[in-house]
Amino acid sequence: MPNNQQTAIKKIAFIGLGNMGKPMAENLIKNGFALNVFDLNTAVLDDLAKQGANVATSPVDASKEVDMVITMLPAGQHVKEVYLGKDGNQGLLDVVSKDTLLVDSSTIAASDAREVAEAAADKGIQFMDAPVSGGTAGAAAGTLSFIVGGQAEQFEQVKPVLEAMGKNIFHAGEVGAGQVAKICNNMLLGVIMTGTAEAMNLGAKNGLDPKVLASILSASTGRNWALEVCNPHPDVGDAMPSSRGYTGGFMSKLMLKDMNLAKQTANDTKVVTPMADQATALYSKHSEQHGDKDFSSIMAHYDANVLQ
Ligand code: NAD
Repeated sequence: MPNNQQTAIKKIAFIGLGNMGKPMAENLIKNGFALNVFDLNTAVLDDLAKQGANVATSPVDASKEVDMVITMLPAGQHVKEVYLGKDGNQGLLDVVSKDTLLVDSSTIAASDAREVAEAAADKGIQFMDAPVSGGTAGAAAGTLSFIVGGQAEQFEQVKPVLEAMGKNIFHAGEVGAGQVAKICNNMLLGVIMTGTAEAMNLGAKNGLDPKVLASILSASTGRNWALEVCNPHPDVGDAMPSSRGYTGGFMSKLMLKDMNLAKQTANDTKVVTPMADQATALYSKHSEQHGDKDFSSIMAHYDANVLQ
């Protein structure tokens, strides 16, 4: 991990301190950055104040006189509200200086990221999208992957800050490119997970020991991450969400959110995604009842017993 001597960025506003944002902010504090923090849920702020963060009263209040703003919010509507303002309330773009670097790490539509970036550019302000991969465990361990869309010069400026929270920092291209790369990955993962559940179920229902089947597939051309690291069959691994009632992983409802974002991007750009459409339909139905379970619980679509 770097320390803040490597960057001119010293003071940061961090807005959105939920499951991901709070551990990310804690890693910035540990690395010596000065933090202004704000979340609508004030309960999370006391703990950060004890660690040395300055608690602000609003996103606008948090963002005055800082070198950089990081947002980690649920969805595009929240990101637009915070940066652009809503119902006559000021947004961050109304108050930050032209030198302040704006980085949104939420997972949102590329079109929303570009909309905020254009509004920022009209005022001479730089906005970047930097969605993450790695989940809450990666956020706590400081090992997230950041996939950044923005200009190369600003990417180099924010990179040392992102390195305090992550291990792999990618420059995907222009603004919006980070979000596109992120949803391509998660769309692929959703398809691979459903395919893996389908194959594991077929083999098990035809009398194979799921452990034996998984070891054969893992050494064959069907090899993939879902099979090896997050196998959807409950009888394969000891330390996988499927072995502990599909808890403690990446929730099905978050996978559905990302697959719907992929679909939105595909529709916007008239690209076909027939495999993802099938997988999204499965996750949509599955999330009605099991949205909080790890996304490998899609196995229940094939074998309802795994969730009983
Ligand atoms: P979360 O719901 O736990 O946290 C979001 C926080 O934003 C909440 O604390 C909420 O109070 C706050 N918030 C909402 N509107 C606000 C506003 N106007 N001003 C200030 N604060 C506001 O969500 P999370 O799990 O931390 O995810 C955040 C983002 O990261 C999402 O876009 C999600 O898709 C993405 N993401 C999540 C994971 C994961 O495993 N949880 C992994 C990768 C990416």
